[in-house]
Amino acid sequence: MKKSIILIVMDGLGDRPAEVLRGRTPLESAYTPNMNHMARHGISGLLYPVDYGIVCGSDTSHLSLLGYKPEEVYTGRGPFEAMGLGMEVHSGDVAFRANYATREGEIITDRRAGRIEEKTDELSNSLSMKIDDIQINVRSGVEHRAALVMHGPGLSGEISDSDPHEVVRPVRTIHAMNEKSEKTARIINEFLERSRKILDSNPMNIRRKSEGKPPANELLLRGAGQAPFLPAFGEKYGMKGAYIIGIPMIRGIAEMIGLEKIDVPGITGGRNTNYVGKLKSARENSEKYEFMLMNIKAPDAAAHDMDPAGKVEVMERIDEAMENLIGIEDRALVIITGDHSTSSTTGEHTGDPVPVTFYTGSSRSIGAGGFNERECSRTGFSLKSGSLMTYALQITDRLEKYGA
Ligand code: ZN
Ligand code: ZN
Repeated sequence: MKKSIILIVMDGLGDRPAEVLRGRTPLESAYTPNMNHMARHGISGLLYPVDYGIVCGSDTSHLSLLGYKPEEVYTGRGPFEAMGLGMEVHSGDVAFRANYATREGEIITDRRAGRIEEKTDELSNSLSMKIDDIQINVRSGVEHRAALVMHGPGLSGEISDSDPHEVVRPVRTIHAMNEKSEKTARIINEFLERSRKILDSNPMNIRRKSEGKPPANELLLRGAGQAPFLPAFGEKYGMKGAYIIGIPMIRGIAEMIGLEKIDVPGITGGRNTNYVGKLKSARENSEKYEFMLMNIKAPDAAAHDMDPAGKVEVMERIDEAMENLIGIEDRALVIITGDHSTSSTTGEHTGDPVPVTFYTGSSRSIGAGGFNERECSRTGFSLKSGSLMTYALQITDRLEKYGA
């Protein structure tokens, strides 16, 4: 039997030296004996997300890690933002990023409805409707933010925004950019017409007006994109795959390629997640599935909070849980890496490469002194994320000969 592949993506793993850590990165500062063991005995080096120097979002980088070329399949942020709010998005659906805004007559006077703090869930729920054969759903995010998904046949993402992008400007009619997007434009304009009446008569908006607050009476749409038609993972690689993921956006990608969900109680997609539960579950399921994708969001969350010491703590908690995978190398290939670097000094993603280790018993080893940016760069081994799956298939003897 061929070894199963367990791909563990520590989100925002890589970092830069921080002054508060005396010139070391969080990963260099953390006590990580288990990952160091893997790095010493595995094939270790640096992984470049998508390509050299590209500053990736988690969406493009995960697609690339799974062997889907973002330059071919990535169609804009809309569908991925909608997935990020936990909305169901199917291949072919068209999704927008949306803002609740304030409209007086035709004119947008506040693009964020005063950065509305009241919950807008009820507004969003009231906007779900079917026009012809297209189902439209809206879901609220934080403050004024929301997303809209159109589901049904014959849609196209090649349409303009209704968002004028500045005040004080009239709201725009959405235009089709070509013939095949005419249906989409017609239906979404019809939706906007109807939504204005619904929002104007909503009790919360009537009350806000009477209190002198800007009402949330326009849903501004921008960044339309059509969810890509991705070949199913099982067909692409001939492996039965599953995922263990807390954050909705990456879960959405995993669902879209047909990975099965492994439920682990207490996983949150945040820093307070059930680290041990996740890694234990990977071990327990390593015979049932030939491939597992795990995302651990916590390092990225700590870095966005500009908390280098917090990122150190997160890495140590992950390492403790990683003990569950020591000894599994006879029946599985464990890949530990990240989807991109996130600087805990600036709180932003960077284009720096991330450490990677392919940990398995039988392969040749390219050992690094430890699992961190500096030690992994010293081996001289590197690859781009788009080659990761091919490399993993090779190590687990799944590749056919190329040539005679
Ligand atoms: Zn990420
Ligand atoms: Zn991030």
